[in-house]
Amino acid sequence: MHQVHYATLNGYQDPELNNALHAVLSPCLEKAGGVQGKRVMIKPNFLEWKGHDKPVCVAPELLTALCRYLFDGGASAVAVIENPAVKSAPVIVENMGIADELAKLGVHVANCENYQFVDMPEKCAFRRLELAQEYLDYDLVIDFAKAKTHAMMTLTLAVKNLFGLIRGSERLGWHLAVGRDYGRFADMLLDINTLVAPHISLVDAVVAMEGNGPGSGTPVDLNFIAASNDALALDASVANKMGVDDLLLISRAAARGMDVEFVDCGEIPEVHPVVLPDPPQMGLEWGVYFPPRLREFLRRKMVAKPEVAPDRCIGCGMCVKMCPPQSLKLVNGKPVFKLGDCIRCFCCQEHCPVGAIISKKTAFMRFADKFEKFIRKIIR
Ligand code: SF4
Ligand code: SF4
Repeated sequence: MHQVHYATLNGYQDPELNNALHAVLSPCLEKAGGVQGKRVMIKPNFLEWKGHDKPVCVAPELLTALCRYLFDGGASAVAVIENPAVKSAPVIVENMGIADELAKLGVHVANCENYQFVDMPEKCAFRRLELAQEYLDYDLVIDFAKAKTHAMMTLTLAVKNLFGLIRGSERLGWHLAVGRDYGRFADMLLDINTLVAPHISLVDAVVAMEGNGPGSGTPVDLNFIAASNDALALDASVANKMGVDDLLLISRAAARGMDVEFVDCGEIPEVHPVVLPDPPQMGLEWGVYFPPRLREFLRRKMVAKPEVAPDRCIGCGMCVKMCPPQSLKLVNGKPVFKLGDCIRCFCCQEHCPVGAIISKKTAFMRFADKFEKFIRKIIR
């Protein structure tokens, strides 16, 4: 059973920050064979820097403290390597205001550049993936995630953070390839995690994100960080603390026979349910005996749709640029969706700079919600 280590942190100030990092990382480092003399790569979540009051990226203070902690522990080199969708990793670090500090410490900050097709191990769902290979150049890989809600996958934590190792242009292709089959998307994330197998995964949930995540949600103080030698166990445990006990990624992993068992250690936070986006899909388990055509009809009705708030939209066109099947276009400066072609990947929602797009349940889904509540009432 994998250990997940927790520490309380009520803000991003020293010295509490260093104490908390030490509490969660020292057992993981010990298990990973220590850091002395090692070259370390950190893969942070750098979706986009939107300012200190928007928890879109890992906190800059925590990232800087992590680099310093690794050098103090004897690391021979530390690199921050990421592949943000829009801006480069060095630009994001500059915008965060920590570029000089990281440079002084001797931290190398770069984008992923070296991509290769990799034949996946037998147990994986996919045969080949094109992945950034930088992680192979380092002795120790730290997957550093931000705890956020996610319109497509409910939450983005450590395993989802590794999707950044897929080439930016190919990520849209992956969304196209799996379409509305979120289970296949989860399989692909699990495959990346199996291949990369980060030595340590760390989650920043001091100020997490709830609501319209992962790019435009609301800050929520969860006041903890957590780390584990196993990204999947970390996700299973942290999802539980955020009030999500049915994360698709975890159920898919369990169905594949992967080890999702964990034991919490340290200062274990209370369960704090966060506000989730409207779920992209409703289960159709209860319709298992329906004829296939009826099931397909219901399936189409039970997928949430992207919706724009015209008063918030600034007409920048980023949603159009990021839409894999090009199922929306700007008309009079506002996006118009062609929902028949839309694969419900919510890339438009993720990259809208002003949070003008949300996932919204269909009228049928809202009716089904009410019907379910009614039935439960009767049964009770
Ligand atoms: S409109 Fe949005 S949710 Fe639909 S396919 Fe395009 S990016 Fe994905
Ligand atoms: S990305 Fe957001 S602000 Fe830009 S056009 Fe689309 S909805 Fe409007």
